[in-house]
Amino acid sequence: MSTTPLLPLPDGLDITSISETPDALLVRVTSHRPSSVCPLCRESSHAIHSYYRRKPMDLPCAGRPIRLLLTVKKFFCRETTCPRKIFTERLPELIEASSRLTIRLRQAVQEIGFATSGKGGEDLCPKLGIRISDVTLLWSLHLVPTPAFGKVRVVGLDDWSWKRGQRYGTIVVNLFLRVFVKRQFSLFGLASEGCWCLSVLNSHVIRCGQALCFWLTLRSMFLFLQG
Ligand SMILES: [Zn+2]
Repeated sequence: MSTTPLLPLPDGLDITSISETPDALLVRVTSHRPSSVCPLCRESSHAIHSYYRRKPMDLPCAGRPIRLLLTVKKFFCRETTCPRKIFTERLPELIEASSRLTIRLRQAVQEIGFATSGKGGEDLCPKLGIRISDVTLLWSLHLVPTPAFGKVRVVGLDDWSWKRGQRYGTIVVNLFLRVFVKRQFSLFGLASEGCWCLSVLNSHVIRCGQALCFWLTLRSMFLFLQG
């Protein structure tokens, strides 16, 4: 079996077998692509170093979880100036490097996370045959790239501590459009967050009315903290 309409795969990937366990369908997939591009220097290489196996989860089929047993290659990079001597085969249409979810599953999890505000997704995913942890669900939302944004009229800021004294976060929301604007993580706490927020406000907030008052208040707080 090379491919099946039930589980479409990119060119160069073939299904070699399907087996069943109590937890999931195991689909063995092998890459037959003769070459891959070095992620560092972008040079193509045909020099195979070895083979290795990845075990990502894929979209469920008829409510059954699917785990791919994906056999891919490692290649030598022959570019003399490239510091990467060996690299793993990239399959950008199917899965990101080092990811444990295929791209299509990751996108589905992100859509579920946004539609359920995260928490409801924990209960919904297992019912749909997606077996992931709550941490993976939240991390998937974290991976969504920040959308492009211009000037912001009304801004909302929120600081929190991931781990007290070690890691802090700040999120900026465009309250006028109710969309996420930017986020920042820091190891240094409120003072550095204030500095970052000021730079965001300086470059993106239209200084009028409510936004101006907020911006001035934050600037006063920051100057006070700076002493
Ligand atoms: Zn290279």
